[in-house]
Amino acid sequence: MNTHDLAKEVLESLTKQGIAPTPREYNKAFCKLVEQKKLEYKDCSDFRELVKQLSRAEQLKISKTEVVTAEDLISILLKRVSASNVSGLANILKDSLLPSISLELDENLARFCIKIGDSPSLIFEDDIQKEMEDFIAKRFEADKKVIHQKTSDIAKLITLMSQHLNDAIASSDKGAKNVSNIKSSLEQIDIKTAEHSKLIELQNKLVSAARTIETEMSQASENLSKGKNQVDNLKEKIKHLEIELELTKKKSKVDSLTNLLNRGAFDEECEKFESRYNREKKNYAIVFFDLDYFKNINDTYGHEAGDAILKTFAVLLKKETRDIDVVARYGGEEFVALINFKTKPDLNAYVSRIQKIVRGSKFKYKDEKIKATFSAGISIRSNHHSFADTINSADKLLYNAKTGGRDKIVSE
Ligand code: GH3
Ligand code: MG
Ligand code: MG
Repeated sequence: MNTHDLAKEVLESLTKQGIAPTPREYNKAFCKLVEQKKLEYKDCSDFRELVKQLSRAEQLKISKTEVVTAEDLISILLKRVSASNVSGLANILKDSLLPSISLELDENLARFCIKIGDSPSLIFEDDIQKEMEDFIAKRFEADKKVIHQKTSDIAKLITLMSQHLNDAIASSDKGAKNVSNIKSSLEQIDIKTAEHSKLIELQNKLVSAARTIETEMSQASENLSKGKNQVDNLKEKIKHLEIELELTKKKSKVDSLTNLLNRGAFDEECEKFESRYNREKKNYAIVFFDLDYFKNINDTYGHEAGDAILKTFAVLLKKETRDIDVVARYGGEEFVALINFKTKPDLNAYVSRIQKIVRGSKFKYKDEKIKATFSAGISIRSNHHSFADTINSADKLLYNAKTGGRDKIVSE
């Protein structure tokens, strides 16, 4: 019987049994027929040898109490199959099923391995082979599931970390913002499961936020105290200025309308003249000037016109009086002078010169040219016992000039 006839017979037999002539089925049936016919084919003798070896392996006993995990079982199985010299096949089994990521199938696989281990020849059974294929497929599926799960966990972790990073960047802004970001981080973190490094990182963030807030607070309080100091300084300055203004008002020596010395300044000057008179016998005269009918001038030309005349008269007095002498506004339209003199004619000449000027002029105010005169009373210090007597005398002489018809100078 040649190989061609053998093959034909095998195919017919398979067709009869309704078995699809796959390479495996074909090979199985072929070798069976070769055996029956006591023929020698190398492939078949190899196959026979393998089955023999596996059958020997069945004689090895397994202590079921020792079996704990699938891995243990696989190693036991490996020991058996290597003992039966079918390590190649066992290695394929091992590589197909281990190492695995999913633990789901371990128990079933363990049982399956025990079954194979007990009867290695079972691996030639169709059912067992099918079961093995199922195991491999299930193992792939289970592992794929675990990998997918782990990948999504990693994705979640990356998202969380980037969120923390964003928070950290945003939190480098201002203290209050920092605190709110850290607060949300704290809410998210599970203290029981959080890594130590993560907690340290969070602690550092808190410390730095606290520092920022501290700086901001001290800056704010510094600004506030600066502002308060400035306000206090201003208050102090204003108070000082008010006091100064009051003092200045009191001490002011100058009459605001005429810029001549005022009554108070005149009194001070009188003291000086009196003191010099007493010490040095330096004589002086008191001269009162009073504008005549001034009320009428105001009534005729208005108060402003009156003011203008007072100013002009003051300028004239100042101009005609020497610096060593004193001229002041005594009050209203009345002026007074303290005049150092050597001779009486010199003294009279001074007042007469002024009278002459006033008599020969008109006071200008806007378009008006106003005629004005004055009356004067002159008293000499050396003619009296006291300063008071002297000034009273000057006042009396002025009064005499008035009653004598005005535009007059009356001297002692
Ligand atoms: P007599 O010749 O007797 O001195 O008459 P008189 O009107 O000048 O004297 P009286 O004492 O009756 O009136 C003084 C007037 O001087 C009244 C007052 O309104 C005016 N007078 C006083 N001080 C000022 C001033 O500062 N400006 C102006 N425009 N008038 C003043
Ligand atoms: Mg007058
Ligand atoms: Mg008067």
